[in-house]
Amino acid sequence: MQSNQTYRQLKCPVVDICGGCQVQHLPYEQQLEQKQKQVVELLKTFGKVDPIIPMKDPYYYRNKIHATFQTDRRNRIISGIYQSGTHKVVPIDSCLLHDQRADKIIVSIRGLLKSFKMRPYNEDTRQGLLRHVLIRTGFESGQIMVVLVLGTHVFPSRKNFVKALVDKHPEITTVVMNVNNKKTSMVLGDRETVLYGKGFIQDTLCGLKFRISPKSFYQVNPVQTETLYNKALDLAEFTGNETIIDAYCGIGTIGLIASKRVKKVIGVELNHDAFKDAINNAKRNDITNVFFHNADAGEFMIKSAKRKQFVDTVIMDPPRSGSSDDFIRALAFMKPKKIVYISCNPVTLKRDLEKLTRKGYQVKTMIPVDMFPGTSHVETVVLMSRVDE
Ligand code: SAH
Repeated sequence: MQSNQTYRQLKCPVVDICGGCQVQHLPYEQQLEQKQKQVVELLKTFGKVDPIIPMKDPYYYRNKIHATFQTDRRNRIISGIYQSGTHKVVPIDSCLLHDQRADKIIVSIRGLLKSFKMRPYNEDTRQGLLRHVLIRTGFESGQIMVVLVLGTHVFPSRKNFVKALVDKHPEITTVVMNVNNKKTSMVLGDRETVLYGKGFIQDTLCGLKFRISPKSFYQVNPVQTETLYNKALDLAEFTGNETIIDAYCGIGTIGLIASKRVKKVIGVELNHDAFKDAINNAKRNDITNVFFHNADAGEFMIKSAKRKQFVDTVIMDPPRSGSSDDFIRALAFMKPKKIVYISCNPVTLKRDLEKLTRKGYQVKTMIPVDMFPGTSHVETVVLMSRVDE
């Protein structure tokens, strides 16, 4: 491992029943060793894997937390986390991964439900009101967004409820109501109404300001995200003349942070809310050399390849399922000199690296970063370069 640091070791009382954390019971050094081993086993055929980059204090890092509300057998209101793979709620007041301010707000909401005589939504009977609460916290800004996910659009005494919540927690900067009345494991529904504040929060990452809307993706560990992004951009060794693609760009974070180091950035993102945030984020930071497209990354790459769009480097950060065949085929056709692949799933990363190494690329550097302490998830950043023909 990389450091001689000793880490504090906290104990979770529900580690065995929750299932959200697969390695929380292990000392942090062992968690890191396990993740390193997993990445090495999967990726060793491509070369040497650098030591995993640990988090200095591996607790309370999540800036996005989600609590489900239900009633227990004795009709008491409980809130907590779904037991892994089920729709059964494990009641908790705090979690070792969550931002502690957010957990306190959840506990207050549970109390308010009682005093407002509101009931949690019951998926089977379709009775009741509150289904989930999603909270996003700005690590640097301290701003807090509370999203109340309701099973119905009828929210009596909503004004008084929000007032009582914000009076109790003046640190809350916005409250959004979201309606999800479908039988689904998705947390958020389509309809959104801003009940208080602006409907989004702003946070700062690598010196830039970012607007984050309820449905937009934003990395959940802000401390490690800065480390990850800095590593990814350093690996690319930009000279300042490059045109690059930031594929699967979310709210534009990586591309906007890279924009100072290159000539032009083209970002592509499928989620419309995240795309709108990305455009707004360019303006927010007075950045004029970044252009965003709202499209499927694979389709966008095919179009770019047909137009003979030449780019020097492609940074790609796909979801857990990895990249599509279309994307990889078009990428190889465009022949960028370098590819920086940021992956939150080493299994699909391996699959995609295999495809790319068959299409003229070689792996230069692989660095795991511990973005999700306590869980078995591991992030990896990989630099590939084109083999000269
Ligand atoms: N690079 C960003 C987001 C990474 S998460 C960051 O670091 O914050 C992956 C992103 O890919 C999400 O924003 C998701 O909405 C987007 N996405 C998922 N499938 C996609 C597709 N087929 N085409 C384009 N974007 C996609």
